[in-house]
Amino acid sequence: MAAIDALPPLREVIARHGLAARKALGQNFLLDLNLTAKIARLAGDLSACDVLEIGPGPGGLTRGLLAEGARRVVAVEKDPRCLPALAEIAAAYPGRLEVIGGDALDLDLADSLRPPVRVVANLPYNVGTELLVRWLTPPGWPPFWQSLTLMFQREVAERIVAQPGGKAYGRLAVLAQWRCAARIAMTLPPEAFTPPPKVSSAVVQIVALPAPRFPADPQVLSRVVAAAFGQRRKMLRASLRGLAPGIEEVIRAAGLAPTARAEEIPVEGFCALARRIATAG
Ligand code: SAM
Repeated sequence: MAAIDALPPLREVIARHGLAARKALGQNFLLDLNLTAKIARLAGDLSACDVLEIGPGPGGLTRGLLAEGARRVVAVEKDPRCLPALAEIAAAYPGRLEVIGGDALDLDLADSLRPPVRVVANLPYNVGTELLVRWLTPPGWPPFWQSLTLMFQREVAERIVAQPGGKAYGRLAVLAQWRCAARIAMTLPPEAFTPPPKVSSAVVQIVALPAPRFPADPQVLSRVVAAAFGQRRKMLRASLRGLAPGIEEVIRAAGLAPTARAEEIPVEGFCALARRIATAG
């Protein structure tokens, strides 16, 4: 297959810069540039977008994004060993790659980006869920991003797109599906990574809707969902007891059975509960 760019192969970059993978940083690298270009294409036409990438590592996905025509990529990497390798990519794509050294959890990145913004990342498994929850719960809606194209462990990806009625359905599914359309766009076996992780991975494509599917106050909804799934085996009348006086009546007024359990309740039901709880009491 034709090379996607004129830069050296990633194995050579890793050897030259001494980038032996560190488990503590969730380093499982993608070295096949045709695969990273394919992941970049899942994010759609990037030619008019700024792309935020968390954890570029040696730069496989970064190169995919740039070769596929992203207007500009802002990449945040915690491992200082990777920065010289990333500087070589920036030199090959003048003015199109900004690398920020630091911890993505400590940085407010929205100001470094010019809209429209899409987030594309092979996330470190140890901070992936935390970052996703932050992106899904901004102070206002629509958020600073149009879409999130994110690699997760497959089990996490399945929780994001899960429907009511199973073990995978929980807080992540409700948060993601209330104001976004979410789907699994690609699955990858462990061997796609170096070193291979223990489990399979999947790319989730999350597109922000212009407005929530159902009205609800985000903070109240968050509290309701956390309480309901915090004790997911209990009936709602028990798990939600602390949220409002006369909770059985409130649950009934939302059109739900007080004896139902969290995993049976669709997003619409949680929003109805949040509206009733907001006015109860
Ligand atoms: N994007 C590269 C690829 O696909 O081959 C590397 C992906 S690797 C799964 C995750 C990357 O995130 C690593 O380069 C790691 O150093 C970086 N990382 C880990 N924790 C981070 C954090 N808190 N902030 C920014 N980068 C982080």
